[in-house]
Amino acid sequence: MDPRTLIQTLTATFEAAGYQLYLVGGSVRDYLLGRPSQDLDFATDARPEEVRRVVRGTQPDAIATVGEKFGTIALRYGDLTVEITTFRAERYQPHSRHPEVRFGTSLEGDLARRDFTINALACRGVPTSPEQIIDPFGGLADLQAQLIRAVGDPAERFAEDPLRLLRAVRFAAELGFRIEPRTAAAIRRAAPALAEIAKERIGTEFTKLLVAAHAAHGIRLCVDLGLMAAIVPELLEMLQMPPLKGYKDVFRHTLLVVERIGREPLLRWAALLHDIAKPRTIGWEHGQVHFRGHERVGEQMAREILRRLHFESHFIDAVAQIVRLHVRANSYSPDWTDSALRRFVREAGPVLPALLALCRADVTSARPARVEAAQARAAELEARIQDLLAREDVAKLDSPLDGHELMALFGRGPGRWIGEVKRYLLELVLDGELAPDDKERAAELARAFLAEREASPPPDGATAEESRHVGSAP
Ligand code: ATP
Ligand code: MG
Repeated sequence: MDPRTLIQTLTATFEAAGYQLYLVGGSVRDYLLGRPSQDLDFATDARPEEVRRVVRGTQPDAIATVGEKFGTIALRYGDLTVEITTFRAERYQPHSRHPEVRFGTSLEGDLARRDFTINALACRGVPTSPEQIIDPFGGLADLQAQLIRAVGDPAERFAEDPLRLLRAVRFAAELGFRIEPRTAAAIRRAAPALAEIAKERIGTEFTKLLVAAHAAHGIRLCVDLGLMAAIVPELLEMLQMPPLKGYKDVFRHTLLVVERIGREPLLRWAALLHDIAKPRTIGWEHGQVHFRGHERVGEQMAREILRRLHFESHFIDAVAQIVRLHVRANSYSPDWTDSALRRFVREAGPVLPALLALCRADVTSARPARVEAAQARAAELEARIQDLLAREDVAKLDSPLDGHELMALFGRGPGRWIGEVKRYLLELVLDGELAPDDKERAAELARAFLAEREASPPPDGATAEESRHVGSAP
């Protein structure tokens, strides 16, 4: 459904029932910015139970009442989502995520408790011209001037809800706005309070900042205003690094990569963290700086950082995997064999596309010749992988003989030997020396492998199998 039609229908329906209904907050802001969103927020003087009754006539596809005790009824109409919230009067209680809700009676009161002037706008019906906008706090002027400004006294507003500290910067990153000086000063003073906010809320809000169009601006603001200590403090270590002659500034480089890569949470987080361990792994050899092992240390740091912010484990694994493998992807050279490619593809697994995206974005040298060479390398790696994947299903490659076949073939029972033989055969398949369906040759090779294994048992004198039965004898 067209958002305009829906706004008109809802407004008419509420007014016919004797209630006020206004489009409010971010929805109005986004309309005025010429980017109407699929999420529409309304405010009304109707109580939630009345909202439920009134909207029935508009035939929504779904109604959710989970927010009802906070005054919000959520609705879905096709791909549009609508939240209708009863005017509120409460000011947030400091440090409480669930303030007592008191319903209010006026739109002005409702707008007064909103965070920033550009979010404290309302409109009766579809916003088509500025004259229609109800704007008690100068939000229209701030939208014009591209400023994020707190409604009322900034210090008070941030004390009420410290998440607003980060929301201010997030909006600056989404819109490319500056933060008005008094508001910025209040953020700097209140910054330590961000640490009191639940970590997952910080993670969610910071992710919105990361995928924003002006993410680098947002990250810099987080650092400059003292918020980063409660988000990813490890990033601040980059700013403590000594200037390295002939080596790029790691923080600046990180920001460039973040903005070069696609605007998805996984890609942006991987870009932000790919070099996170460089400050901790810095070393010198023959007058040259190096960061040996930074991908391993970085993998661990990425896990810690994301776990702390309560990300889901599959997301954490994916970012960590990309961080661990990015150096290998970047080290691609034309002399990589197909077998090296196969191993790389298998190790990357589902994060392969993200890894290749990072590889392409991770090219920020100031020297054009270098950039060109690196981009050509990334493109070639991608082309060769595509070519390989067109020829074979690399992920499915396996030993030509499975455990049952091996037991039947050698008349032996289950044991560790099966895994060893299968691994050996798989290695040969990956090397391109054994066809994945050549069971006959696989049987010969397995026989030879077992014979050799029996002839020269492991150094402790026991075969793997025996030691397992005997236990760990000294
Ligand atoms: P987006 O939907 O892109 O996150 P938004 O401005 O719509 O941006 P929401 O979090 O959806 O932000 O909130 C909707 C409106 O509710 C905001 O525009 C603002 O008016 C108000 N609001 C949200 N969170 C707060 C808060 N922590 N303090 C005060 N007002 C808030
Ligand atoms: Mg919204």
